[in-house]
Amino acid sequence: MNLDEAKAAGSPYVGRKSRESFARARLVFPDGTSRATIERDPEPIYVERGVGSYLVDVDGRRFLDLNCNFTTLIHGHAFAPVVEALTRQLQCGSCFANPTESEIELAELLCSRIPQVDRVRFVNTGTEAVLFAVKAARAFTGRSKIAKIEGAYHGAYDWCEVSLGATPDNWGEPTSPTSTGRYRGMPSSVLEEVVVLRFNDVEGVHRLLSSYAHDLAAVLMDPMPSKSGLIAPKPEFIAAVQAAARCNNILIISDEVLNLRQGFQGASARYGLVPDLITMGKIIGGGLPIGAIGGREDVMRVFDASAGRPMLAQGGTFSANPLSMTAGLAAMRHLDRTAFERLEVLGKSVRDGIRLAIAKCSAPLCVTGAASLFRIHPLTKVPNDYREAYLAPALESLMKELTRFFAQNGIILPHGATPSLSTSMTRDDADFVVDVFSGFLHANEKLLNQIAAPR
Ligand code: PMP
Repeated sequence: MNLDEAKAAGSPYVGRKSRESFARARLVFPDGTSRATIERDPEPIYVERGVGSYLVDVDGRRFLDLNCNFTTLIHGHAFAPVVEALTRQLQCGSCFANPTESEIELAELLCSRIPQVDRVRFVNTGTEAVLFAVKAARAFTGRSKIAKIEGAYHGAYDWCEVSLGATPDNWGEPTSPTSTGRYRGMPSSVLEEVVVLRFNDVEGVHRLLSSYAHDLAAVLMDPMPSKSGLIAPKPEFIAAVQAAARCNNILIISDEVLNLRQGFQGASARYGLVPDLITMGKIIGGGLPIGAIGGREDVMRVFDASAGRPMLAQGGTFSANPLSMTAGLAAMRHLDRTAFERLEVLGKSVRDGIRLAIAKCSAPLCVTGAASLFRIHPLTKVPNDYREAYLAPALESLMKELTRFFAQNGIILPHGATPSLSTSMTRDDADFVVDVFSGFLHANEKLLNQIAAPR
């Protein structure tokens, strides 16, 4: 059965109760969900509960969860230390208009671990963290433009959404990528304020950052942008960003909302980037909403309101609420160096296993990623940037088939998002992922050969 036939018949792995819930949801949400990122085929799977690395859906079926709420749950679901910390905090109140000591403790942990984080401000989402980091860079430099990487996701702040969904029809020349809009009616002034760079393009970074030197507040980059392929940065690319930014007094914002999970000290430290500001989120909230801006003491001073009006006001009704702070602290305390080393080994075993299975079948696929993250591409050669990772519709639908095959075999493998592992996963879970992947290759040999043929 191909995807369209299956859609017409209803997906074999979406149960009756999920279908019923979705029918109700369609009456109250514009598309039946409250997040564009929810995966549906054509209905989503409604979850009843999460237990460690597994989900149980409302129809009573169990899935190994490789989505981990978009890479957030680095300890899996209902991690006991987080549940205990939250239960204690809930009994003492959930939010106050006063600070609590829990925010100091989480900030101390981040400042002590992550190089370049001298000071922190907490917000509620990654989007908000990036938004305030961009504003902070503008306030600090007095400049308004930003540079960002083509195809990279940084949340929903207009300037950071530029060229997120660039396509071959509109992305322009490789030497001067076009700034493309994200939605109808997006102000053209936003496009004019954003310089788009191609990931791993050393020459482009030098040229574009120096041509806009006097107008750029910051270069915003994720050291391994997930949405544009989870592609490893070339050391010379990191060095080029660093040199061009320093030479032109442009700040570097490293968006580690997702990739902080790449190591005890985060992703910049792993790849040798020395940013001025770092945005964080996801894992630092232990499963509760969170975002944080961290950075150099002099830059972070733009938030300083102690003498009256700050250069940049940042508040938020729920910023630094004690539930997110205590959950985050419990999760982060359990993410010691040993936990990261284990995740590194587990991630490598999944990527190596997938790579070996591909080689055995000579399948036209490849795998990228690092630490506890991986991404499978229907490409024979590992992509170098967003343009190379961009998929034509036929390849997109092959990847949907892969996600469907995984779900039918008891694993949630995200299609649009990045698959991730958690400390609750075992070596058996990792082998399970590789076995199901091998099963997909064997079951789809013909389809894969057809895909490979035109190359
Ligand atoms: N930046 C990056 C790199 C992200 O991956 C995300 C979320 N996936 C965000 C920003 C936005 O975070 P949030 O969804 O918490 O707003």
